[in-house]
Amino acid sequence: AKDARRKLIAGNWKMNGLAASAPEFVRVVGAYQGGLKADVDLMVFPPFTLLTSFATASRGAGVLVGGQDCHAKPAGAHTGDVSAEMIADAGGQAVIVGHSERRTDHGETDADVRAKAEAARRAGLVAVICVGETKDEREAGEARAVVSRQLAGSLPDDAAAAHVVVAYEPVWAIGTGLTPTAAEIAEMHGFIRSELAGRFGAEAADAIRILYGGSVKPDNAKEILATANVDGALVGGASLKADDFLAIAKAA
Ligand code: PGA
Repeated sequence: AKDARRKLIAGNWKMNGLAASAPEFVRVVGAYQGGLKADVDLMVFPPFTLLTSFATASRGAGVLVGGQDCHAKPAGAHTGDVSAEMIADAGGQAVIVGHSERRTDHGETDADVRAKAEAARRAGLVAVICVGETKDEREAGEARAVVSRQLAGSLPDDAAAAHVVVAYEPVWAIGTGLTPTAAEIAEMHGFIRSELAGRFGAEAADAIRILYGGSVKPDNAKEILATANVDGALVGGASLKADDFLAIAKAA
């Protein structure tokens, strides 16, 4: 049942945030403790440089923090990379894998994303696994086929609600101010739900949260979050300001 899936609002800070931005996060934690908690789960994904301080600031408060990417291996000679185990060690509980910016900027394949999601499980992290079509793919009528292929290739065989969240993020909606219509979002989220059911069974699929991401703002959050099979939002730009992020969380 839809009611069984608690809404999840996740903030992806991307390559933004300096130590001076920590108070924004502290305000989010305070508001969560002050009443949001009953209605919604919150996650914030700061840059790695801020992960430890955010984890410390949220300790015991219920706001989860995580990394924006991880390496598939637990440790080793991989200069510049960070493992899922390191994220857990720094106090993180989650990790985003397969964000379109990783797929584009770093050539990550579905197989890479799946290996990262498996690493997240190994380290005890929730994997937020991102999928979504480009503008060209949508205009060519291939959006479903692309998302289907990404789901098949990026989700581990043991995907389950306790450790996997799916984020549908149409690439053309990210950072552009453009969003699909509510009907288009409902159509794709319903399709994703049916793809999950085909692979993992109806009961498991019914429990997995499917977030929408791409230009979610305080003024469109209510409509998007009320859409069928939308179990929350992955928020980029609007997650950087506590007021905007909290307004989105309150719309959930
Ligand atoms: P946006 O980013 O909210 O700035 O569009 C969303 C995302 O990329 O996760």
